[in-house]
Amino acid sequence: MNAPASLPNTSAFEMDRAHVLHPWANFGPFEKAGSLVIARGQGAKLWDEQGREYFDAVGGMWCTNIGLGRREMADAIAEQAERLAFANHFVDMTNDPAARLAAKLAELAPGDLNRVHFTTGGSTAVDTAVRVVSYYHHARGNPDKTDIVARENSYHGSTYLTQSVGKRNGDRIEEFRYKTEGIHHLSCPNPYRRPDHMTEAQFCDDLIAEFEALIARVGADKIGGFIAEPIQASGGIIVPPQGYLRRMWEVCKRHDILFIADEVVTAFGRVGHWFAAEDAFGVQPDMITCAKGLTSGYLPLGALILSDRIWAAMADGGHRWFTTGLTYSGHPVSCACALKNIEILEREGLLGNADRVGAYFNTRLKALENLPLVGNVRGQGLMLCVENVANKTTKALLPDEVNESKRISDMAESLGLLVRPIGHLNVMSPPLIITEAEVDFVVDTLEAAIRRVTDDLVREGHR
Ligand code: PMP
Repeated sequence: MNAPASLPNTSAFEMDRAHVLHPWANFGPFEKAGSLVIARGQGAKLWDEQGREYFDAVGGMWCTNIGLGRREMADAIAEQAERLAFANHFVDMTNDPAARLAAKLAELAPGDLNRVHFTTGGSTAVDTAVRVVSYYHHARGNPDKTDIVARENSYHGSTYLTQSVGKRNGDRIEEFRYKTEGIHHLSCPNPYRRPDHMTEAQFCDDLIAEFEALIARVGADKIGGFIAEPIQASGGIIVPPQGYLRRMWEVCKRHDILFIADEVVTAFGRVGHWFAAEDAFGVQPDMITCAKGLTSGYLPLGALILSDRIWAAMADGGHRWFTTGLTYSGHPVSCACALKNIEILEREGLLGNADRVGAYFNTRLKALENLPLVGNVRGQGLMLCVENVANKTTKALLPDEVNESKRISDMAESLGLLVRPIGHLNVMSPPLIITEAEVDFVVDTLEAAIRRVTDDLVREGHR
């Protein structure tokens, strides 16, 4: 679609380059090349300002679960904006969409996770979860039980606290001096990168032992919470070894450590379930954080869902203030948007589609392991990636400056496909409406892009 008539075609591009400070950007290349200006979206397709079409296999940012451009979403948002665009949600005020969404999330969430705190996105949900860890243990007479355990290669958000809790390999951190006190990182449960001499089962035993050893060293009276993405997302689609999450949860239960499942990516059908922790991994978390697929990206919203047990401890005595919250907590328009989104996910059976088409996608993508550049293909449901390597036997990576994943993504973009480069990976998380024919297009186009970039790397002497 063309840009509005009052603006020249290049204006968004120019204004962006002149005035926008982009998130997660590398400013050198940005200043040279500028940004791709997206003008319109429908389903899983995007069009740029010049009218070029792309299949968005990234799903926006792991979030456009029901697909873009739905009239009934626009109507639900418009109706609520007209009826009540904003309402204070602090202390003892609420609104109908927020209350109904809380009840719906309590119905969908596992076990006794019946209490919902609304935030503006994933980071603010995780940030609040970390505070609840302290608040809960303090309320139960354990004020020092505040340390948080996370894993290498996890991503839990981009506030100062949540980025301190997460720890992705390769992220530049020296400029920011993240908080380290009271935060511990265990090994990443990546079966592909496990030590050569270990079976997957031994690797899993080792990871559990590492957690137990940390608790013995630091003290169970100090460690208040453990946070884990059921499948690590931007750390590289890490599907943990069989039994790992359940065993980590059992360790948590033994030591009164709250288990936070960060389901910002994995919830709302991404891997075929409302929430992955229980349905895919047999874990009943104490808290779940979610965002993204909660509104399918139509509006910003996050939620922290916590258990009756935590609520009971927090409410006990009734005299303490819970001094955290955001202006837009329980935003009525975002909550109305989420309710309509959940209704569509249910009505169209999109969780089942993610499961069925996801299995087809995983099978088809796996065949790319035959390519000389591809060391590993992995995923579950509609979270998938290919990992590029210099040597398939040693699994050694190409030097960072070769930037092969970015080059593959750029090549795919020129062929009408968006995939996301992260480190040495190309990552995909398409809308749940994706069909098998579209999977064929994605896999064939990605394969063509990898082959072309491989030829270039050979010519340049990198292979
Ligand atoms: N947790 C996880 C697992 C995520 O992947 C993300 C975002 N990609 C976040 C938290 C942060 O969410 P947001 O960007 O909405 O703040």
